[in-house]
Amino acid sequence: MLPGSRYELLRSRLIAREASDFARTLPEHELQSLWFSGAFGRDFPTTDGRRVHIIQFGIWNHEAGPDFAEAAISIDGGPAQRGHIELDPDARDWERHGHATNPEYDGVVLHAFFERGEADAFTRTSKHRSIPQIRLSLAAIDDPPTPQPEAKPGRCVGPLRNLPEEKVRDVLRDAALFRMRRKGAALLRVEEIHGPDEMLFQALAGTLGYKSNKLPFTLLAQRLPLKLLRAAKDDAPALLFGVAGFLDQRDLAPFDSPTRIYLRSLWEKWWPRRAEFERLTVPRPLWKMSGQRPMNHPQRRLAALAQLIAQWPRVRALRAACLPKTITEFCAELTDPYWDHHYTVTSKPAAKRMALIGETRATEMLVNVFFPITLTAHPERWAEFSQLPASLTNARVEVAALRLFGDSPLGQELLKKAAFQQGLLQVYEDFCQRDASDCQRCLFPEQLAGW
Ligand code: SF4
Repeated sequence: MLPGSRYELLRSRLIAREASDFARTLPEHELQSLWFSGAFGRDFPTTDGRRVHIIQFGIWNHEAGPDFAEAAISIDGGPAQRGHIELDPDARDWERHGHATNPEYDGVVLHAFFERGEADAFTRTSKHRSIPQIRLSLAAIDDPPTPQPEAKPGRCVGPLRNLPEEKVRDVLRDAALFRMRRKGAALLRVEEIHGPDEMLFQALAGTLGYKSNKLPFTLLAQRLPLKLLRAAKDDAPALLFGVAGFLDQRDLAPFDSPTRIYLRSLWEKWWPRRAEFERLTVPRPLWKMSGQRPMNHPQRRLAALAQLIAQWPRVRALRAACLPKTITEFCAELTDPYWDHHYTVTSKPAAKRMALIGETRATEMLVNVFFPITLTAHPERWAEFSQLPASLTNARVEVAALRLFGDSPLGQELLKKAAFQQGLLQVYEDFCQRDASDCQRCLFPEQLAGW
């Protein structure tokens, strides 16, 4: 049996029973981001029974018109058809948004959507060409729904307490193996579509976004590919800040002198290229600017991403070796003359230098990017991963530990290792976040007895 398979079997038996308890909806930007990452797959039946294969997912469209440009598809194994792809929440959006009469949409080769009404909704261009349609399903997304379970001991505290410690560790280890395998598979899927460098760039950007800004950071990395940013050289930070929407304040008078100099230098590089990239700007409401530690402010993290781009050959080498100490040291060395001493553009300069990417974030990169990739090719390196100390706990991990272990010292002990945290989070997402019965109908505690 593959490592992690035992947990996978248990999960697949139990989750199917609870999955229908939550209706899922996702905002359009998230759907587009998931599509671009290949999360829905790349082979689909069309609504009229043909088979479509996505040869190229293309790029986010800079111009007015459909969502993705320079894409290529094949229908029923036929030759590549190059053009645009439009993705809408609903098939009827094509007509509602006037695409059928808009010549900018004449180059669309595929219309993807999630919902459709009772009546057939056809997709036609202004020249009356019929465009193949595919209906995507959110069921392909295996992320848990979002309800936040109550922070209180759950029904599994008793069964876990009665289980020999070695078995508890075994359950969590298997859950962690399963989680790392899934993360690795998702990254390799992006690699297959966009190549190894873009995959690594998008994954590291997502990790710099933390949970609350993961989507805007991922969108940024998808919309501004690494290849483009590396070619932009010194303009790369300005493009990142501009497309992030952080350079929309023209009046710099309210800022102190170093901040004015810093922002002006970005703004002067962004301004000549603004028209080219403006359509890609990440919408302001997607950013969560408050409610996190000042060190984690998205603008600081964006500056860190710019430094990763500047040091890309070294970042690539970090992936190849995947050595925790080297990666942590590399992150600690990253420097930016402005952000080394600023939390935000409105905060007073700090006398002491602050790391652009501290140890906690470096550990998150190891857990979410470097080790999932490495373990896929080298499962024997699990022993190294299992020794990786956990970064600071976060609210989700703590709630998970409380629900499963109550005040048992074993819960706190297990939280010290990154691998056990991952196992705990997997159980929490698979069971606690899908439970709508205050533990009463959750079958995880009963299954533990037979582990
Ligand atoms: S929902 Fe299930 S796994 Fe979560 S605490 Fe309750 S019994 Fe345990």
